[in-house]
Amino acid sequence: MKYEYASDLQTRMEEIAKFLEMDHIAVDRVKCFRSSGSSTKRTIARCHTIGKLMQKAIGVKAHYAIEFLERFERLSREEQDKVIIHELMHIPKTFGGGFRQHDYVCDRNVNELHKKFIRERTI
Ligand SMILES: [Zn+2]
Repeated sequence: MKYEYASDLQTRMEEIAKFLEMDHIAVDRVKCFRSSGSSTKRTIARCHTIGKLMQKAIGVKAHYAIEFLERFERLSREEQDKVIIHELMHIPKTFGGGFRQHDYVCDRNVNELHKKFIRERTI
């Protein structure tokens, strides 16, 4: 696996978090990476974090990393935005190092937030 920091996706992620008023997300502790060489062909993106115990052990606050796999590049701009929204929604209000699950992070809620993003962006 190869990981490369993706400053363009970082900017888009920060913009989306801002427009969607995801104030619980400390964007300076969310980092976006492109990965290559994964054998998983179906995955487009995934969200990583560092659990509470490891945070204590290392002495750091919670951090999240969003990994964008090669398939992501082939999506339309709109689909990509939805993927970014999806991954951001996995980050819970506590920003504590856990995840929200797919009962909440579902297409219906993603589409709703995507509409809000389009609306807010054009104001
Ligand atoms: Zn997901």
